[in-house]
Amino acid sequence: TKEDVKSYLFRNAFVLLTVTAVIVGTILGFTLRPYRMSYREVKYFSFPGELLMRMLQMLVLPLIISSLVTGMAALDSKASGKMGMRAVVYYMTTTIIAVVIGIIIVIIIHPGKGTKENMHREGKIVQVTAADAFLDLIRYAPVGILFLIAGKIVEMEDMGVIGGQLAMYTVTVIVGLFIHAVIVLPLLYFLVTRKNPWVFIGGLLQALITALGTSSSSATLPITFKCLEENNGVDKRVTRFVLPVGATINMDGTALYEALAAIFIAQVNNFELNFGQIITISITATAASIGAAGIPQAGLVTMVIVLTSVGLPTDDITLIIAVDWFLDRLRTTTNVLGDSLGAGIVEHLSRHELKNRDVEMGNSVIEE
Ligand code: ASP
Repeated sequence: TKEDVKSYLFRNAFVLLTVTAVIVGTILGFTLRPYRMSYREVKYFSFPGELLMRMLQMLVLPLIISSLVTGMAALDSKASGKMGMRAVVYYMTTTIIAVVIGIIIVIIIHPGKGTKENMHREGKIVQVTAADAFLDLIRYAPVGILFLIAGKIVEMEDMGVIGGQLAMYTVTVIVGLFIHAVIVLPLLYFLVTRKNPWVFIGGLLQALITALGTSSSSATLPITFKCLEENNGVDKRVTRFVLPVGATINMDGTALYEALAAIFIAQVNNFELNFGQIITISITATAASIGAAGIPQAGLVTMVIVLTSVGLPTDDITLIIAVDWFLDRLRTTTNVLGDSLGAGIVEHLSRHELKNRDVEMGNSVIEE
């Protein structure tokens, strides 16, 4: 019908606009970059994005609480128990796979070849960015997609400065995240549900771009709900039950990154890790990803746990800070993808309980 077409166009126009925002933001950022804005000017420039970010953050807490309550109330305790179990099994499995991918990739590519002194040639610049990154974490709320991306490009490090090992490290993280997000997770979704993962992921585009723009899976949560429920038609009893928890504890991208970064730091220190230490890194990286909040660069902070567990110098986090703002966006996107595919998988596995419940309730599928 005409209404359907209109709503279809409207939905896609929204996605299209977001994609355009990313492109325009990137172009705008690179165009304004040569003008070297001051810190203050960058702040003003990024203001529209900051507004979006705050609006999202404002939504998150009431959303989590109300959705958990309605999600649980809509199911009997046995069904919600089963669903919770399935979600936890999915979270653990995918997180561990992510960690293993991170470890294998960093050992194969070995981006930390050479000495740490090599990296310290960049010491001064890296340290300036270190302060910036932590300011980022507490003060600088990222910008609404376009301005957020443009603002970041305006103020980022000169890429020429990021040489050798750090560039290789960045590539290694990208390869690892790519394998997990583009191969492993879609494959897992397909194996369990027998449905086309790319159709499902297509419906998530808006959320994935928001994750890329905000570096925060919590801030993205309202959009993740919207995409899953409206575009992909995932049962609200599932999304409301698993998403709030997933966004907080299920972070595949972060887990992969933590393990990979720790081993990279070992490599630049010429620190030989034995098998036991690699296992320790796997376990602590998993824990650190669960413990990390869904906010920008939280993973960088919980890295301390991983490094300390095997006696690596925590100061060396400063070595990777210069590129973290960028890698954070990619791992956040992976995190959101993992949560979303998880909701699809849990819904599929719980279809019988959901149906029984519908029958019990006289077919009144809950709305809201
Ligand atoms: N920024 C990530 C997230 O919100 C967490 C991290 O820093 O790894 O999902």
